[in-house]
Amino acid sequence: MEKMKKEIHSFQSEAKQLLHLMIHSLYSNKEIFIREIISNASDAIDKLRFHFLSHPETNKSNIDFQICISVNKEKNTLIISDNGIGMNKNEVIENLGTIAKSGTKKFINELKNKTEEKSNLIGQFGVGFYSSFIVSKKVIVRTKSINCSEKEGVLWESDGKGKYTIQNIIKKETGTEIILFLNDSEKIFLEEWKINNIVKKYSDHIDIPVKINSFNEKEKIYCLKQINRAKAIWSLKKSEIKKEEYQNFYKYITNDTNNPLTWTHNTVEGTLEYTNLLYIPSKAPWDMWNRENKYGLKLYVKKVYIMDDVQQFLPNYLRFVRGIIDSYDMPLNVSREILQENKIVSGLRKTLTKRILSLLNQLLINNPEKYQKFWNEFGLVLKEGIAEDFQNKETIANLLRFTSISNNKSEQTVSLENYIKNTKKEQEKIYFLTADNYLSAKNSPHLEFFKKNNIDVLLLSDKIDEWMMNHLTEFKEKKFQSINKTDESLNKLIQEDNSNQKILEKNELLKKIKESLSDKIKDVKFTNKLTDTPAILVTDSSDMSTQMAKLFSAAGQNPSPIKYIFEINPNHVLIKHINNITEEKILKEWIHLLFEEALLVETGSLEDPANFIFRINKLLTQNIFST
Ligand code: ADP
Ligand code: MG
Repeated sequence: MEKMKKEIHSFQSEAKQLLHLMIHSLYSNKEIFIREIISNASDAIDKLRFHFLSHPETNKSNIDFQICISVNKEKNTLIISDNGIGMNKNEVIENLGTIAKSGTKKFINELKNKTEEKSNLIGQFGVGFYSSFIVSKKVIVRTKSINCSEKEGVLWESDGKGKYTIQNIIKKETGTEIILFLNDSEKIFLEEWKINNIVKKYSDHIDIPVKINSFNEKEKIYCLKQINRAKAIWSLKKSEIKKEEYQNFYKYITNDTNNPLTWTHNTVEGTLEYTNLLYIPSKAPWDMWNRENKYGLKLYVKKVYIMDDVQQFLPNYLRFVRGIIDSYDMPLNVSREILQENKIVSGLRKTLTKRILSLLNQLLINNPEKYQKFWNEFGLVLKEGIAEDFQNKETIANLLRFTSISNNKSEQTVSLENYIKNTKKEQEKIYFLTADNYLSAKNSPHLEFFKKNNIDVLLLSDKIDEWMMNHLTEFKEKKFQSINKTDESLNKLIQEDNSNQKILEKNELLKKIKESLSDKIKDVKFTNKLTDTPAILVTDSSDMSTQMAKLFSAAGQNPSPIKYIFEINPNHVLIKHINNITEEKILKEWIHLLFEEALLVETGSLEDPANFIFRINKLLTQNIFST
């Protein structure tokens, strides 16, 4: 018969690679294949429920949705079946023969380079179905889609080695049956107690009953026994839910193998009626910076699953939050388009944002160590909030962590509140410095004055910092001040002996410097901020900062070159030395050298480094011959 013909197909090459990697890296946690198959079955049932909502005419009988497990010890088979939406032939090929998701290649490479945590990564990627080959020598899938007749059933069969076959079968019931032919070494998965344990561990909370075909010794018959609790966990009272259950639910919806750091579970009645269960993960996912990635919450309406990854409920800077929202006000037929401009959604977004920020605030008060863990993983993302969320800026600012001179390590642990607490009364501003990296910030000559006077400075070197600081101008009525920029108020804090400066002024040194650097600088001044450095460059308070200019350049724009203010240390021996040089050419050489040195420190690079080295060598050589 034509329709019974077996077709042989090859797995897509990426699928093949993934299969191979998985079979060889997941051996320590084999049991998860049951979780993965049940999770797919549960998804399929959710999809069918949703299908009935939009096509009520297809819902002829009132189905009791369930997932059934049975074993055959003689044949070494484990069978897991569901009465969900099923698949047609094309869907089987698409879903079980290829990996449709983008970024797969990148993921596979990532996986190859990692020795540990492979199972964690695989889980996050959700290549669930293939995990059945970790324990099976052969897998058969029998399925029929809700949209097909019983003659259009499909049988898929593979040993997971590169090829699979596919053929039409007659299958009466809509849904899918997965038959695993277990390896001889995996017989343990035929034991009822073992299956019970695994299902309880991973699938207790899914709201569909998982039943096992169990042999009743007394009555000598088989009967279906429900294993899991089958209640949507978020619909239970908080007091009825154990910590482990919260954690297991998190792992179930995220595929993360780590426990979450913390969570918040709220049921709200009133103008907006909803339940939320939101988690803060303890580790950032491997692809958090992938812009294509959709992050968002799972949406339910009146306990019916609607869709995954709904991004509208939280702002972008809280994209690390995972969890579910179950709304009682939204229509069941809500679509992604409706979500874009729905009033309920924007109302929820406001309250959920506040809720997460206050959850973080609680964490910071009650468990600073955990909060620090959070900051190390997600601080960079949270920083985006300073620019993005004007309304909650003060709250977010309170959550920020920095490093500083007094912190003396690169880990960001200093809060703004602590910074202020440790300042002297007369210090009006919060001082900060931005640089390319921690070391160049820490060793910047801009800090000399502050170190000498025991004034702490926040050291910022994350890429996003310059942008963030543009939006953060004040905290608790104290203004932020970049120490790379000119700052008149600083003069109040400086009381120095000006005798050296007076000598230099007599000689008109500033005038000479200004003449030789006229096209390169905006101005030249004496400064008492420096101790060990002869000269530095600062930006005029109204001009674009060095780091900002770098951001623009990196974005492909060409900002006009910054004209700096050149500040000279009148007490430095080199400055005193050049003041005595009478030969104009040599003096010019020195001035340019000092300027380029300062430019190198300020920007990290020079336009013409060879010329700079040439100048140094020339002056060094002169020195050798003069001694
Ligand atoms: P994921 O669940 O992350 O999509 P899987 O590898 O677990 O990845 O499953 C691949 C796809 O196969 C699913 O997305 C689904 O479309 C399909 N599938 C798997 N199991 C079933 C099932 N029991 N019923 C219907 N479709 C299924
Ligand atoms: Mg899956």
